[in-house]
Amino acid sequence: MTTRCPECGAELGPGESCQAFFESLLFEEYADMEHNGPVHPQMVASFMLTHDRYADAVRPQAIALLRTALEDQPPPHYLRRVARELFGPDTRRTGSILRGDRPPRAIAWPITVRDVALHPEEDYPTRINRWARSVLDTLAALGE
Ligand SMILES: [Zn+2]
Repeated sequence: MTTRCPECGAELGPGESCQAFFESLLFEEYADMEHNGPVHPQMVASFMLTHDRYADAVRPQAIALLRTALEDQPPPHYLRRVARELFGPDTRRTGSILRGDRPPRAIAWPITVRDVALHPEEDYPTRINRWARSVLDTLAALGE
């Protein structure tokens, strides 16, 4: 029997969860930080956006971060600094960076965290950047 993730719509098999897939991607990063670590910001932003986890006030900044990562290909330390400035604990902001208890947007994502996590045989940065590209394209088609 399959279920659907209530946040991203991924079809999940018995015992599967998007959170566990997210953690398996983190594990792939830790296993080869030099090769896989640089796409960490794209991975987190793609997971968070497909699960509509960000507060509306933060969402446009997360999308902008993803776009910068893919289109400008800045050095990883730059992306980490921007991510820290946006989402880090020291940043002054009003309200949470998280969605809170409104229902998540229902968006038909062409690639889910499950699709990405279940192909560890394929190059990690390639998978993550393809996922991030599809997230941006999907949001752009919806006017975001
Ligand atoms: Zn999900």
